[in-house]
Amino acid sequence: MHILLVEDEQRLSKALKQILEENRYMVDAVYNGEDGLNYGLSGIYDVIILDIMLPRLDGISVAKSLRQSSINTPIIMLTARDSVNDKINGLDSGADDYMTKPFAPRELLARIRAVTRRQGEVLADVLECGDFSFNTSTNEISKGDKTIRLNYKEAEILKLLTLRKNVIVSKEDLISKVWGYDSDAGDSNVEAYISFVRKKLSFIQSEMTILSYKKLGYRLEAK
Ligand code: CA
Repeated sequence: MHILLVEDEQRLSKALKQILEENRYMVDAVYNGEDGLNYGLSGIYDVIILDIMLPRLDGISVAKSLRQSSINTPIIMLTARDSVNDKINGLDSGADDYMTKPFAPRELLARIRAVTRRQGEVLADVLECGDFSFNTSTNEISKGDKTIRLNYKEAEILKLLTLRKNVIVSKEDLISKVWGYDSDAGDSNVEAYISFVRKKLSFIQSEMTILSYKKLGYRLEAK
């Protein structure tokens, strides 16, 4: 799981990064709101930990901009302030949870688990992807009166590409998320499954397809 940590207090950032890494999270730490927004817009993170009082751009504005750009990564806001107004502003801006400093690291870890679990539940639903919809509980894609079912791996691939629709997803990422870190799957497995998904997208006559970028990976795009 990949976490973006946006916190300008170097000591706190360093301490949090260490605790998170000890708990097997990958962490990218940035120290101002502008960097936080740019990194967050990549769509690659599973959770964003976002301080409110930040140089260049405050955390509330960062959260609002991310949500306006359809980035639905769970956000946990951090702040030293503890007024009811700040909590309301934070949650209204699109944050999923709120923590007042100082806090116990164990509590932050519990909140991270809670927001990612909720994200998982949200996924068991219908995703709209361009001109077709993707029911992630039945693994069916439909457009108009055409519907076709994807098998497990095809569905996992499409889910990943849909959730990261503005970024190129690498083959390595697809292998580790769909086949697992320890698998023997290679590039040819990914290529085969990508072509199966493309065929199913053409079957429902979707304008969306999976484009490949040499050496970089794949992206779901309109033709
Ligand atoms: Ca701060």
